[in-house]
This record gives sequence, C-alpha cells and structure tokens, in this order.
Amino acid sequence: MSEPLFLKPVFHEKIWGGSKLAKEFGYQIPSEHTGECWAISAHPNGVSTVLNGKYQGMKLDELYQAHPALFGNPDKAVFPLLTKILDANDWLSVQVHPDDTYALEHEGELGKTECWYVIAAEPDAQIIYGHHAKSRKELSEMIASKDWNHLLTRVKVKAGDFFYVPSGTMHAIGKGILILETQQSSDTTYRVYDFDRKDNQGNLRELHLPQSIDVMTIGEIKNTTPLISNTGTAEITTFITNDFFTVYQWRVHAKTSFKQSAPYTLVSVLDGEGELIVSGDTYSLKKGQHFILPSDVSQWEFSGHLSMIASHDGSNS
Ligand code: ZN
Repeated sequence: MSEPLFLKPVFHEKIWGGSKLAKEFGYQIPSEHTGECWAISAHPNGVSTVLNGKYQGMKLDELYQAHPALFGNPDKAVFPLLTKILDANDWLSVQVHPDDTYALEHEGELGKTECWYVIAAEPDAQIIYGHHAKSRKELSEMIASKDWNHLLTRVKVKAGDFFYVPSGTMHAIGKGILILETQQSSDTTYRVYDFDRKDNQGNLRELHLPQSIDVMTIGEIKNTTPLISNTGTAEITTFITNDFFTVYQWRVHAKTSFKQSAPYTLVSVLDGEGELIVSGDTYSLKKGQHFILPSDVSQWEFSGHLSMIASHDGSNS
C-alpha cells in the first residue's frame, strides 16, 4: 500500500532561539530558546521519526537504508536533503558553509548549500547576504580589523521572500525572522562573527576564521527569480531548480491533483487546513506538518486551503 510518510521533528536550543515554534506551529519545544526545528532530516545530529503507517517508529536514516525503493533506489549513500524551520529571536552568527569537495576533505560530510523561504519577519528585519570585499586579501584584512559595517551586505526582508544561499556565501539570519530552510544534509558551519555574544556560562562561541576565508566566495551572490504558474485551483511557484534541490511553493485553494515529478518529494505545511488524498485514503493536513511522498506515490490530491513548501533532490529530477 502506498502512503505518505509523516515525520516527527527534532528541536535544537540555540543562544538566538525563541518560542515562535510553539506559538506559530503548536510544537512542544524544549525551552524559550528553541532555534531550530529539524523537520525532515536523516542527519545524525537530529533524525526524524516516521509517525504513521507501515513504517511507524522507524528513523528516516534507517528507512532510507532499509527501503531504498521508497526513494527511487538512489545512488546517494545518505538522504541528501534537510528541511528546517528556524526561529531567529536574535541574530544568528555571521557564517559561511563549505562546498562538497572542501567539506568531504575536512569534515567528512556533505557541503552545505541552502535556501530560505521567509515565513514571517518583523518590520525592518534584515539578513546578511554577501560581503563587499574585492579580494581574499581584502576579506581577511577586513575580518582581522573587525570592519563589519563596511564588510557585510545587509538586505531587508519580508514574508514571502526567497533567498538562495550557495556554499561560500557570507550570511546571517537576522532578529525577528521565521524561516523555512531547505539545505543539503550537512551540519558544518564556519562562524565568522558572533556579535561578541557570550552564552549563559560566559563563553564566546568558537570562530573558524581560516576555514571561513578559505571557502568564502568573492563577488556578488545571485539570488534566483521565482517562476509562477496557476492551475486555477492552485498556484505553483518554483523558487529554484539546480543540482542540489528544487524548491516549490504550492498554494492550494480547492481540490487539485499533483503528479510525482521526482523519485520522492518533501512537503511542509506552513499555513491553512485541508486534506491529502493518496490511493483513496484521506489524511487531514494542518500547519506545522511535514511529510515525504515516496516513490510508490505517483499521484495525489490536495483539497482545502493550504500553503506548502515542497522540495526534491536536484540531480534526480
Ligand atoms: Zn547557514
């Protein structure tokens, strides 16, 4: 029997986290400093568990190894994607991630190319997206002299914005922003600047300046242009499609049929209520749910009013 795989997230407390994951999505969070909901993850630092059906109780990493047919018999050794929701109650550190080549050599895992869908943002909320240094030499000089105001590129954001953050991009999510992140399954971060903050034990968080300078892209970061199509009952926005992932927004207003366009698809419900119909079975959907439509689900229907972010592995499409 083909069925969707609903997943139980894992939460991570952070110095910059807040309580919006409980307020907005009704999640049981560990504290008022909860920064990250790892919603669809097979990464060892926080693995999702299947909530329903035949595979109930299985971890996503085990399922990927034991039942590769559900994922289109992939040639990738690990589940390649990770979906998170981040509650930035304060600035995240200014950081950069390595690409696959550098990360495999130095960290033994994938690199991290990511992208962000802004779910909500306070007025005047900002991110850091790129930098102004013209050369690697200038970059290391400006970092050494802590010339952050001249170095960092600040961009204002609002709900509905999308940002592509390829590995090598200097970035930071700003205070008052709630984001859904689709990324490669990696947890390697090189921290450049942490606003000289101390944790509750009075310690500064570690910086990784030599690695950051090694992997940083010099030059402008190009964001993507969303492509919108309308079926009459749904609006489909394709934010990005590349070697790493394809990311869509699906806004459903009435009953709409979908076909699987990749070996499997990851879905997060960000707003509204409705139903998912797979092989004659109906599953009720609400804000805050996350699921995978595996390979044996070739088509499905949504009904109701739903706003979702969906993604699939890029090189499989
Ligand atoms: Zn990042």
